Amino acid sequence: MIDLHTHTRRSDGTDTPGELMERAAQAGLSVVGLTDHDTCTGWQEAAEAVPDTGVALVRGMELTCRHAGRTVHLLGYLFNPDHPAIEAHMSRLIAARHERIVAMAEALIDDGLIASSDLDLDSPALGRPHIADALVRAGQVDDRPQAFATYIHPTSRYHRPLPAPSLAETIATIHRAGGAAVWAHPRAKRHGQHSFDAIREGLSFGLDGLEIDHRDNSPADRVKLDTLAQAYGVLKTGASDYHGSGKPNELGENCTSEEVLGALTERTELEVIYP
Ligand code: AMP
Ligand code: ZN
Ligand code: FE
Ligand code: FE
Repeated sequence: MIDLHTHTRRSDGTDTPGELMERAAQAGLSVVGLTDHDTCTGWQEAAEAVPDTGVALVRGMELTCRHAGRTVHLLGYLFNPDHPAIEAHMSRLIAARHERIVAMAEALIDDGLIASSDLDLDSPALGRPHIADALVRAGQVDDRPQAFATYIHPTSRYHRPLPAPSLAETIATIHRAGGAAVWAHPRAKRHGQHSFDAIREGLSFGLDGLEIDHRDNSPADRVKLDTLAQAYGVLKTGASDYHGSGKPNELGENCTSEEVLGALTERTELEVIYP
């Protein structure tokens, strides 16, 4: 089983990279793709766990970008993390993430909803889940989903937008760094759900694939996305988007075929790390 989209504490998951690899082994995965948001800082620890766990590692990252007035999550796979284009891209995004989350936290502190001691801003790629966890610690909500439905919802007065680069520019950056680019959960409602026209436009920018088998794409949408992937000759991936205990998604709940992983690695600079 090949699961190409997971998160750790290096962004907004709850496992360390080593724990992720152990859980992947327990879940019976043969290959796991580590795709923390806008950071590769978990790659090394995950790679060190490959021999002991026997799980192969695909080094990846989920890059936040904008397209057609909405957020897109773009999975970048097996690119050279030291390429200057990707380094500049990451450092801009990490700084923007930090500024945005600090601004949201300050607004909540000013209104007495959280205390600064409720905050844990250690992660290299901060996101709203870190504010959600502070709201849980402060007793304002029971869990992350409840925080997302209230205090940190885009309509909340405490929400701040994350400035992000365009989809076209982000695809080009991944390609320049030798990687492959796959549009994550294209029909997820949490990003305001992209139209099929917007997805077609994304395909025209040179995407390598669409993440079709994902719990946030409805069965009817998966059929339409399949047709699009075939029409444009791009790869079809599937994955869990596991976040540890931060989300209900279970490792291996959706998978990618060996053929697709083979086709993906044919076009990338880095290779899968096998045990
Ligand atoms: P942000 O990057 O600040 O927009 O936050 C988006 C992150 O929050 C993504 O990693 C999502 O997986 C996660 N997320 C979105 N909605 C929820 C939810 N209802 N419960 C838990 N995590 C969520
Ligand atoms: Zn996430
Ligand atoms: Fe995502
Ligand atoms: Fe994700």
